[in-house]
Amino acid sequence: MKIYCFKVCLKYRKGIWRVIEIKDSQTLKDLDNAVQGVFEHEYGHLSEFTIKGLTYCPSKAMGMTDFDHSTDVEIKSLNLDVGCQMKYVYDFGDYIEHIVELIDTKEEGDNKKYPRVAEKNKTRYRYCQKCKPKKKVVATWRCYECKQNLCDDCCEKDDDHSHMIGEIIY
Ligand SMILES: [Zn+2]
Ligand SMILES: [Zn+2]
Repeated sequence: MKIYCFKVCLKYRKGIWRVIEIKDSQTLKDLDNAVQGVFEHEYGHLSEFTIKGLTYCPSKAMGMTDFDHSTDVEIKSLNLDVGCQMKYVYDFGDYIEHIVELIDTKEEGDNKKYPRVAEKNKTRYRYCQKCKPKKKVVATWRCYECKQNLCDDCCEKDDDHSHMIGEIIY
């Protein structure tokens, strides 16, 4: 059994990445779930891989979007070489683009459960800009309108507008 090591980064924030190890007998759907889990994406949205020009979606997306293959395919059947890159989009509304690169293949480790996160970027927190003068509170949201990083509490308080927010990934 071979293990595939994928480095997954956010396309527009390349400093945010995870290395995910997965067995070659596991499926693209397992990788899909692992990516959603490790980036703490909210579950339940549609996702899509683009590999060598072909699109792969979960079979539940049938009829909601056009795609070439379902994600119920084994990783090994994709015939990927080290260095091969694919595109992964999560949530067709927020359209979070990721670059997934096969960086290595290796032998299965003892007593390890796959898929697993082998490595991740160093966490550099952003702090709530409203709380900042008084205390350091980790920001969970960024407002697209006023461009501020906000904590949960400050986010709920409307200032001159209702904040248009996206979750900050660390
Ligand atoms: Zn705050
Ligand atoms: Zn705002």
